[in-house]
Amino acid sequence: GVVIYRNYCLGLDSLIAPDEIAYDTTIVTTTWLNGEQLRAAVYRDKNFTILVAYSLNELGDVLENLFSILLYLIPIAVALSILGGLYLAHKALAPVHDVTTRARKITAENLDQTIPPREVDDEIGRLVNTMNDMIHRLHNSFAQTRQFSSDASHELRTPLTIIRGEIELALRNEKTPEEYRTILSSTLEEILRLKSIIDNLLTLGKADYGVYDMKLEEVHLDSLIKDLYDDSEMLAETKHIKVELKKTEPVTIVGDKGRLRQLFLNIVDNAIKYTPDGGHVAISVERHNGSALVEVEDSGIGIPKQDLDKIFDRFYRVDKARSRQMGGTGLGLSIAKWIVELHRGTISVKSEINKGSKFTVRLPIN
Ligand code: ADP
Repeated sequence: GVVIYRNYCLGLDSLIAPDEIAYDTTIVTTTWLNGEQLRAAVYRDKNFTILVAYSLNELGDVLENLFSILLYLIPIAVALSILGGLYLAHKALAPVHDVTTRARKITAENLDQTIPPREVDDEIGRLVNTMNDMIHRLHNSFAQTRQFSSDASHELRTPLTIIRGEIELALRNEKTPEEYRTILSSTLEEILRLKSIIDNLLTLGKADYGVYDMKLEEVHLDSLIKDLYDDSEMLAETKHIKVELKKTEPVTIVGDKGRLRQLFLNIVDNAIKYTPDGGHVAISVERHNGSALVEVEDSGIGIPKQDLDKIFDRFYRVDKARSRQMGGTGLGLSIAKWIVELHRGTISVKSEINKGSKFTVRLPIN
């Protein structure tokens, strides 16, 4: 066997024990005569052996050099990547910082302001749009609450002013018992109105907080409507209004009986209130396409087209004076709408001035 190593030839057996080498290419590490470490690739055949080797000492030198280079380079590379990372993070987060600063400046007092939208449609652009939508919703909600508080105070102040006036009148000079009775009954009327407004406000307050616990039970809508019809006949009698029960199909739904009664009472009560003497009101209950369908139709004063979608708003009244005169608070239909929504139903109205109105309530049959 021959070793070819940097033009030196040497007996192979003196370097590598023959049993270390298989009949194929083998990589071995061995020691040169001068003690130098060698990495050798040996190819062995029956007739000859080729060995190619290089000194591991040289490799060690190279590795040592590489190590000292890395020793200097790594901290520089780490420092550079930290600086680069900080720069990139700062650049990427600058718009977020900007949005945060602007968002912080928006309070309940300036909800009409928005965060300037970004030209680019990236994540931050979408975040800004979402925040602006939210600010817009908050703005509307604050405006509604303010409107509601101011309407509520106004509504509560009116009966109180009247009560005060009545009492001052009663105290001004001596009156006959008959006069006192008149004043007291008028005062009582206003107190009842106050109570009705407060009850309705409390109901709507519960609706707003979403804390209302429905007392669910099986409700036979046909019998509920029949009972209501009996009561409404009495209401209508004084105005000579004919109330008719047009259709009563047996329909059972799962719902809150007390609230459902309040819902239909509000609608029937309105039908009688806003129908002139001698008119008529027709009530019907039936099943229709998997829903309970309740209709209340009157031959009353009707509702102008432009007011149709507003009558379910709180305190909205087409004719304030007329509603007041009828003992209305302007909250009946908003409560009706809340109860319908509580039962996952819908309420709609069709109306023609001086011909009449038709309220339709659809409630799903569970
Ligand atoms: P109110 O206490 O004033 O009756 P509602 O919320 O029940 O309040 O109704 C709101 C307004 O809708 C009423 O003031 C009235 O102008 C109108 N309205 C409701 N029902 C009828 C009806 N059947 N016919 C004509 N107008 C109606």
